[in-house]
Amino acid sequence: MGCAVCEDTGWKAIEQDGVRRMMRCDCWREEIVRRRLADARIPKRYQHCDLSNFVTYPNEMLVRAVAGVKKFIDAFPVVDKGLLLIGPPGIGKSHLAVSALKQAIVGSGARGLFYDVRELLKLIRSTYNPVVKTAEMEVLRPVLEADLLALDDLGAEKTSEWVEETLNLVVNTRYNERRPTIFTSNYEEKEQTGEGDSLLERVGYRIHSRLFEMCDFYDFDGCDYRSPNRPTNATGEDLLKLWQLQRMKKGHHVTLPPRARGSARAQLRDGDGKADLKWPGGRAGSQG
Ligand SMILES: [Zn+2]
Repeated sequence: MGCAVCEDTGWKAIEQDGVRRMMRCDCWREEIVRRRLADARIPKRYQHCDLSNFVTYPNEMLVRAVAGVKKFIDAFPVVDKGLLLIGPPGIGKSHLAVSALKQAIVGSGARGLFYDVRELLKLIRSTYNPVVKTAEMEVLRPVLEADLLALDDLGAEKTSEWVEETLNLVVNTRYNERRPTIFTSNYEEKEQTGEGDSLLERVGYRIHSRLFEMCDFYDFDGCDYRSPNRPTNATGEDLLKLWQLQRMKKGHHVTLPPRARGSARAQLRDGDGKADLKWPGGRAGSQG
């Protein structure tokens, strides 16, 4: 590599009050961050994700969620709770989860780990030994011990006794060890209708009640960022229009803020943490 400061020793000398001391060189820290980012298992399609390239628009629940993620990032590692991001597919939940994960790694050198829940279960299952009823700790240990874990798409795998027990082990261990976890889910918090599409029905009672103890909860609706109608380099205004269109297609009555402000960033500043939760746009999203 060739660090001009430390000549690749990882240590540099500094003079403080006439005393010469050795301390870690910046390149040493950068190397740790680089390695931890590489080890975080962030899928290629999300590797570019950052709060700085998450385009918002006048959508109060979305702006509230972004503010919540930002608050989490700013406070990390001193956080009591993780995050639970809920809403229909394509609205940016994984982008936000990865943003927080990356920032925790870059800002604090944290050991961060990203897993799609189904992939994690598949991996554990593949190493599961039915005779001794244990999964390889090689897979589980990093999941249990990561400083910050992002579990994407919770509830995607229909719950079974094994799924529930396995996820329960992960969730409970992290809860007991006070290690924060970020969850995303397409399944809303709603009354059980027997159709099995509420968060509670998808994850089971034990995990469900634990989630709310261990996470700040943000549910939001928004435009589908994966829509083929989304212009490249879409502005907040483009996304707002797209969202209106998508809501009309779904047959929702479109209610817009009295005066849609042009800059969502400005809204983030003055609306920080004081989002009006009664705004009809917030909870109306259906699973479509
Ligand atoms: Zn150096």
